[in-house]
Amino acid sequence: MWIDTHAHLYDLDTDSYNACISEAADAGVYGMIDTATSLDNASIVAARACPEKRIFAAVGVSPFVAAELADGWRSKLEALLSLPGVIAAGETGLDGSNPCYPSMPLQEAAFKAHIEAAAKKNLPIVIHSRGAEKRAIDMCKSYRVTHAVFHCYTGSLPDLKHLLDCGWHVSFSGIITFKNNPLAELVDFAPLDRILIETDTPYLAPVPHRGQPNRPAWLPIIGTALAGQKKIPVEKAAEQIALNMHEVFGI
Ligand SMILES: [Zn+2]
Repeated sequence: MWIDTHAHLYDLDTDSYNACISEAADAGVYGMIDTATSLDNASIVAARACPEKRIFAAVGVSPFVAAELADGWRSKLEALLSLPGVIAAGETGLDGSNPCYPSMPLQEAAFKAHIEAAAKKNLPIVIHSRGAEKRAIDMCKSYRVTHAVFHCYTGSLPDLKHLLDCGWHVSFSGIITFKNNPLAELVDFAPLDRILIETDTPYLAPVPHRGQPNRPAWLPIIGTALAGQKKIPVEKAAEQIALNMHEVFGI
């Protein structure tokens, strides 16, 4: 039994969305966190959140749109964070991997606004960090973030050590199923009680589905790969990850 801690389902129409949820349930994925990347899709994921069915929402604006934020976006974010079933602020963060992305000062301003809004509501933050892990960690430290997940982590081992030392969690995606798992060293290092897993649907489908749009139903493939890498029974991995979910998100 698994929960997909990070999926993007807002582009699915109602029929495809319902099919996706029941396919996931049939595969043993009994819940998910539908994660927004813009204020528009944040409204969709917040409206679809249904805690009784273990469908939760994270609302936020990804660093890729940090240059397009209209006046008043912060109060919209705060209003969304108050809705039932919204359990985290994100995804938010910093991406320095491509010079075409919004400038770092713009990304940092948006990231800071999420950190402040989450602190007001006492919610964790879901962090996207690529090519800017150090800076993301420094910002979280300076604003005294207590609960955070570095989602789809692909950074360095020293940065992973640092974020774990700060008490935060790391989430691994289908990348850990790829041939010669490029994240093996990170998975080995991270203690099981600080790890979450995610599909990042529709991106990063696990082996043997690479190249197809990902789906939450494939999360057990990632959980099984994690358990294999950690040399523990799959049930133990699932059990501990459920406890970690509770620790970070209170669900
Ligand atoms: Zn994502």
